This record gives sequence, structure tokens and C-alpha cells, in this order.
Amino acid sequence: MQSKTTEALADINARLGEAAREDGRSPNDVKLIAVSKTFDAPDILPVLDVGQRLFGENRVQEAKSKWPELKERYPDIELHLIGPLQSNKAKEAVELFDAIHSIDRPKIAKVIAEEMTKQGKTLQLFVQVNTGEEPQKAGVMPRETKAFVDMCRAELGLTLAGLMCIPPVDDEPAVHFAFLDKLAKECGLAGRSMGMSSDYETAVKFGATHVRVGSAIFGAR
Ligand SMILES: *Cc1c(COP(=O)(O)O)cnc(C)c1O
Repeated sequence: MQSKTTEALADINARLGEAAREDGRSPNDVKLIAVSKTFDAPDILPVLDVGQRLFGENRVQEAKSKWPELKERYPDIELHLIGPLQSNKAKEAVELFDAIHSIDRPKIAKVIAEEMTKQGKTLQLFVQVNTGEEPQKAGVMPRETKAFVDMCRAELGLTLAGLMCIPPVDDEPAVHFAFLDKLAKECGLAGRSMGMSSDYETAVKFGATHVRVGSAIFGAR
């Protein structure tokens, strides 16, 4: 069934495909994460019905309240945690999610590594980088990123999927996307989780492999 939401989704997929081709990549090389935070099953089901399977949530508790039931109906759902993670939620996060985009300190990397071993489950892990060096924002500082990635690999035996950033609201996002792309290259990482509703096409031009789009699909929160 067509709705405002599914029309928006189709439009975004078309734009993403176009942006990927302009960047010399296949549309399949860019994954759209539909960010469903604050929305419940009635808003999410139409998007599932038209084939979207990749979703993002920023809170473990909120995700736990809606996704287990939806996963029973659509077992091939892939769920990404894009918000900050406390170590006391690591167990639940590894149980529920397929990917975490907010690895940003040794302690959380360590508990996630331990939980994955315990649960026999491997998640895609992205290191969040505070590209704007904002004091209030989560993420590893840019100059510490390479050392942090090396530590995750050498000491924790983790295979990382890539880097993630959230540019400062008042900055030109392209500068941050280019910077994250450069850092990812230095770290030998293929994944770049960057771009949201207002700038996902720009992000793809700078090499995004995962864009996180919420309000452009589901409407204002
Ligand atoms: C909410 C959120 C998004 C989606 O933002 P929109 O502007 O609604 O597309 C992307 N990334 C993170 C980390 C978020 O918390």
C-alpha cells in the first residue's frame, strides 16, 4: 500500500542510487538505515511491507519494546544501534542488534567483545569519531582514532566494519564526511556510516557506505 512514508522511502532510494552511480559505485554499495526511533509498529509496518529490512534505533530500551515482535514477523530484519551505549546495556544490545555504530571508548569495546564471545554472535562494529571535537558529543577524537582502532584489533581481536560520525549542526557536513573518509582510509576500514535526512546525498559523494535517515522517511519527531 502506498503511503506518505513509503513514497518518501522510494524517493530516497532513487536519490541514493543516483548518488552512488555518480560516485562510480553500485547502488548496492550504499545501505539505507531507516531510523525508526520514536516511531512504533503502525508507522514501521508499511515500510517493512515494501521491503525495507535495515533499521536504526538510538536506545536499547526503546528498541527492546518494539523490535522482538516485528522480528518474529520479519526474521530477516537487520537492526543497527546508532545511539550511545552504556556498558550495563551491552548484553541486551548484543542480543537484539546486528550492528553498533557508537563504539567510542576502550571499556565499551571490551564489554561488547566479551558479550559477542559469550553469545557466539558477531556484530558489525563502527567506531564513532567526534570529527568536530565537540565537548558534549560522543566519539573518539580524530587524532586518537587510529590508536583506538589498532587497540580494538590487537588487544580485543575485533574486526571492525568502519567509522561513524555526526557532524556539528552548524558546520558544512561535507568537510566532516571528507575527513571521516580520510580517517577510514588511514585505518584500513571499508565502512563509513555518515549522512542523515538533510545530507545523505552529500555523504554518498564522499564515500558513505551506510546512511542513517529518519525524519525524511517517517516525518518529524
Ligand atoms: C536520529 C538519528 C539519525 C537520523 O536523523 P534524521 O535527521 O531524522 O534523519 C541519524 N543518526 C543518528 C545517530 C541519530 O540519532
